[in-house]
Amino acid sequence: MEARTSSAVVKTDQRVVGPIIMLGPPGAGKGTQAKLIAETYGIPQISTGDILRDNVARKTELGVKAKAIMERGDLVPDDLVCDMVADRLLMADCYKGFILDGFPRTVRQAEWLDAQLEKIRAGQDAAGRAACAPPIVLRLVVEYNQLLQRLTGRRSCPTCGLIYNVYFQPPKVQGICDVDGSTLVQRRDDTEEVISERLKAYEQLTLPLVDYYQASGRLVEVNGDQPVDAVAAQMLSALENVHRL
Ligand code: ADP
Ligand code: ADP
Repeated sequence: MEARTSSAVVKTDQRVVGPIIMLGPPGAGKGTQAKLIAETYGIPQISTGDILRDNVARKTELGVKAKAIMERGDLVPDDLVCDMVADRLLMADCYKGFILDGFPRTVRQAEWLDAQLEKIRAGQDAAGRAACAPPIVLRLVVEYNQLLQRLTGRRSCPTCGLIYNVYFQPPKVQGICDVDGSTLVQRRDDTEEVISERLKAYEQLTLPLVDYYQASGRLVEVNGDQPVDAVAAQMLSALENVHRL
């Protein structure tokens, strides 16, 4: 066991954490925070955007269907994304829980997830049931202009996946990953025109999830308009409180 000095969070390889959902608009910091939470609890970060981009790069059947949709900033059809998540949740590393980053993004996806978790729970022992308990939803709230700046400034490492920002989280050497020296890349959909479509899709299709999860009492709001460490501390403390309930 390893205790973090600044908070009551205890790192352990045994604790069952259950499903965690990161909810928030593009640029809110879901990927950045999901990575930190995943490392803290030793659970996998499941990013539907990353899985889709990997499929596009490998030109799989799914990737070929998703490419043009993603490039114009629309959402990939629910059935395709849900099938992809269903396969991922069956993998052995989800035994203590998992953190979903970018999923669900529509009410249909959220309803599907609830049903899917219930289905998995039905066939499990006690530990397996806890790993697939109803999810805790962390909602990141960030002001619109800040989102635009975060998205236009976002760069990522194609090798280790680390996320940078030319304005807020620059690498030590411009354009180069601090960890492995790879040349950083900008996502094809992080252009102003596509960003505006993605933010519209968020408002219309994803924002209704706030009401959906609030109704179940499992939604926690976090101020995402703070430095990365402050956001992380608020999220971890929210998770610890929920787990103590
Ligand atoms: P961001 O982190 O900026 O919100 P993501 O990497 O999560 O972006 O998603 C990139 C794109 O992948 C989305 O604009 C959408 O086209 C597709 N995508 C990712 N997750 C989903 C999902 N759950 N449902 C539908 N489309 C998705
Ligand atoms: P999302 O997955 O929600 O689209 P990311 O985690 O990819 O968001 O973050 C979007 C951009 O904003 C990245 O360039 C990241 O470095 C930066 N970023 C993330 N969190 C913060 C923060 N708290 N303050 C400033 N910039 C941030």
